[in-house]
Amino acid sequence: MAISKDKQRSLINRLLNAFLRHSGFIGIVRHVNRAQIKILMYHSIAPKESYYVRGIGVTVKPTTFEEQLSYLRQHYRVIPLHQLILELRDGCVGEKTVVLTFDDGFRDSYEFAWPILHKYGVRATVFLNKDVIERGKILWIHRFTYLANCAGMEHLWKLASQRWPALAGVHSTRTGRFMVLMNYLVDQVLPVDRDTFLAEAFRSFEIADPAHRGSDLYLRWDQVHEMAADGIEFGNHTRSHENLARLSEREQQCEIVTARDIIAEMLPGSMIPFAYPFGGMRHFTNLTARIVRESGHSCALLGTGRINSHDTPVYALDRIKVEEEPLSQFAARIEGLSLRRWLRNVRSRKQCCTVTSRSKS
Ligand SMILES: [Zn+2]
Repeated sequence: MAISKDKQRSLINRLLNAFLRHSGFIGIVRHVNRAQIKILMYHSIAPKESYYVRGIGVTVKPTTFEEQLSYLRQHYRVIPLHQLILELRDGCVGEKTVVLTFDDGFRDSYEFAWPILHKYGVRATVFLNKDVIERGKILWIHRFTYLANCAGMEHLWKLASQRWPALAGVHSTRTGRFMVLMNYLVDQVLPVDRDTFLAEAFRSFEIADPAHRGSDLYLRWDQVHEMAADGIEFGNHTRSHENLARLSEREQQCEIVTARDIIAEMLPGSMIPFAYPFGGMRHFTNLTARIVRESGHSCALLGTGRINSHDTPVYALDRIKVEEEPLSQFAARIEGLSLRRWLRNVRSRKQCCTVTSRSKS
């Protein structure tokens, strides 16, 4: 019986990762890499993927999260982000350091992640967006994902490629198209045009737009205060989760500073870290970095998957995205040994290049 290429790849990956973990090799790698600083980037911890995030690989089941946390506590020094920043500034970071972060301020960080963090005595940082916590709005990326899941990617792709001819002719799987369109909206389309497209798409598919239905999806201030009292830290993830590199200076100021101000007001006296929305090098500019520094943030975090060293500047710390995966893959991933991630990066780079070159032509 013939096995598809994807299945072959998955099987090889599982065998390789199981070997890495059970052979003791991963322990050797962990020891060799003991000076590295690993900052993990989680999003949603929930038993089931909601329509707002289905397909973007950001949901980790609570059972998986607990297994990962138990593993981390056993093999690493898991410290709060503010402690890492102080240690980096003093030039005395301990060995095998790991920091946990959660982006987008999902409500499930209160419902599912926090009880597990509390059980293991681990303090993490949750990054908040001002518009969702203050105004009950749904971030556009989650509206887009909801739309794709409700309408079906086929229909949404058709509508998008009628509007943006650069997309027409891109051959990809359903998941591939989802990521291509998402990246296109992030990198190539101005927020005003994207919002018009999304509003028209909801109308055209006769799907109720959940734009202001964020109250159940994200954290409330009372939950933030409860978690903060237990040592959970909170950071700035901007006002509305835009690609900052595409905004004017005034718009970037508004995105970064107004969100910082509300956190400073609600959680006085705390250090406020910053996490770039989307987290890639192409999602901010030198100007963005200056605004982040000058507006009093304690550090700035990316999300490109690189591992930090003692020399990494506090305003350019990077993070490793965590997904739902077997523990052996998780262990390999945080040691920089994930074959699956390497293959996916190669594939997504190819797809992005195709769309970018089409849109430029
Ligand atoms: Zn985010």
